[in-house]
Amino acid sequence: MRCFYHQDAEAIGLCKLCSRGLCPACATETDDSLACKNRHEAQVEQITMLIKRNAEVNGRSGAFQAAMLLVYGAGALAFTAFSIRAFMQGGEEIGTGFISLLPAGVLGICAAANLKWLLVRRTPAKPPTA
Ligand SMILES: [Zn+2]
Ligand SMILES: [Zn+2]
Repeated sequence: MRCFYHQDAEAIGLCKLCSRGLCPACATETDDSLACKNRHEAQVEQITMLIKRNAEVNGRSGAFQAAMLLVYGAGALAFTAFSIRAFMQGGEEIGTGFISLLPAGVLGICAAANLKWLLVRRTPAKPPTA
């Protein structure tokens, strides 16, 4: 592929805005994206920022959904365990004690998994290089 502006020069990439081939002399690198030098730098930067912001918003709603799923899942498991415990009331002491520990264990595991997930998601993105 040739540079759009120099038919004799080999293109190293495409402008993110207009998708024209760019040679090293015509390309400006803006935050991992290429732009036409002195033409589309500002626009490409805006596009990149928009995409990044969208990705962040999507990531946040995904985290929220995962958190809710864990909360509901833990709640359901706890309810089931308490039901079993109630059903077994009057039964063997060891069995009842073990089942009463179940909801706490499930909640603990869920909280740990959720926390780890949140910590991974919160890893700050690379700040945009101006
Ligand atoms: Zn060129
Ligand atoms: Zn361009």
